[in-house]
Amino acid sequence: MNRGFLGGTFNPPHLGHIRAARAAMEQLGLDELYFIPTGEPPHKDLPADTATAEQRLEMTELAASGIPHAKALDLEIRREGPSYSVLTARELLEEDPEGELWLLCGTDMFLTLDQWYRADWLLENLHIAAYPRKPGEMPDLEEKAEVLRRKWNARVELIRLDPMEVSSTDVRSALKRGGGSELLGDEIYAYILRNRLYGVQPEPDALWRLAVPMLEEKRIPHVRGCREEAGKLALRWGADAVEAERAAILHDVTKKMPAEEQLRLCAAYGIIPGIGGEADPARADEESLSPDDFARRYPAVLHAFSGAAAAWGLFGVSSAVRDAIMWHTTGKRDMTLLEKIIWLADYIEPTRTMPGVKKVRRLAYEDLDGALRLAMKNSLDHMTERKKSPHPASLEALNDLKKER
Ligand code: ATP
Repeated sequence: MNRGFLGGTFNPPHLGHIRAARAAMEQLGLDELYFIPTGEPPHKDLPADTATAEQRLEMTELAASGIPHAKALDLEIRREGPSYSVLTARELLEEDPEGELWLLCGTDMFLTLDQWYRADWLLENLHIAAYPRKPGEMPDLEEKAEVLRRKWNARVELIRLDPMEVSSTDVRSALKRGGGSELLGDEIYAYILRNRLYGVQPEPDALWRLAVPMLEEKRIPHVRGCREEAGKLALRWGADAVEAERAAILHDVTKKMPAEEQLRLCAAYGIIPGIGGEADPARADEESLSPDDFARRYPAVLHAFSGAAAAWGLFGVSSAVRDAIMWHTTGKRDMTLLEKIIWLADYIEPTRTMPGVKKVRRLAYEDLDGALRLAMKNSLDHMTERKKSPHPASLEALNDLKKER
């Protein structure tokens, strides 16, 4: 077999790694390609907020899953002590002693290859394939390849590709600043959100891409409208517009899930569907509802709790965004500015046509609490007309707003 392997910290794996791996696969005609995350890397110290070795392996598996005949191997992570390529290469050669084995590396690694531990063995027993990490590096690679060929009689090939100029260090700092998804595959970005790695700040456009497949087709215009409206309301009332967008994008993300699945999400991420606020003897009956009973009594409200659970557990949002999603259907006492904005954006976004919405829409940009009061009253009246019993938190929200007047 003709095989190749690419070692690295993969903290996290990015599109530069993937582009290089694809090009190497094609140009060397490999039957199999292995991504091998290092255990304890010999060349560099890992940053403090780094992913664990297990998480780097899982992300590398996701990266490999997008390339036919590629896979991630855990042999360096399982091994104790520093990761030396010579140990890895020996293990791989033992599996197929007659086959060809390529060590793949980018410019930085290739230029220092002859200083690696047991470089002599590597250059005698493996083929080496190197590729540029930045435009303009080919002449340096060619010069080095000539030295290695002359001095070691090594078989060295250069992979031609249009390099993507990015490092995992760049990715980590972009993630912290609220960007970075464009440097990663969506699956890896979702993994990073789920595991809250590298201080990631969820990027609204990426949340949108990840959330849309979870929505019913007919709900998409509503969520898009809600995102726009929430952003505008946040700017008008001095809230964080990016937080408002995150909450709006995710507020209905669990709506099409069966109730059991929604309850599972709530349980997994510590959200108890209920009525919120402080314990109150007047609400003792409601407060003692089990999650199942809650879902039966208030089926229309369950998605707000499970949406909060999903946003928190799967999309890595802040607790402020989680809570704004949790109360977007009912409202509650003592709502925060963000909670008010999301409630109202959901009510007035441009695709809504219910009676009275135009007046609330106008008022929303003049008197936030006044708009909320009117909208909450409208929706409670509507429920009474249809003989539906409102969730206690909605009544409390309206009373609260009346008091504040
Ligand atoms: P860090 O920024 O944490 O040092 P890195 O981006 O250099 O990480 P590694 O996981 O250490 O990534 O690199 C693994 C291998 O991938 C190395 O051979 C490296 O040269 C190569 N590589 C890294 N980035 C690119 C890129 N943008 N294009 C091509 N090859 C790359």
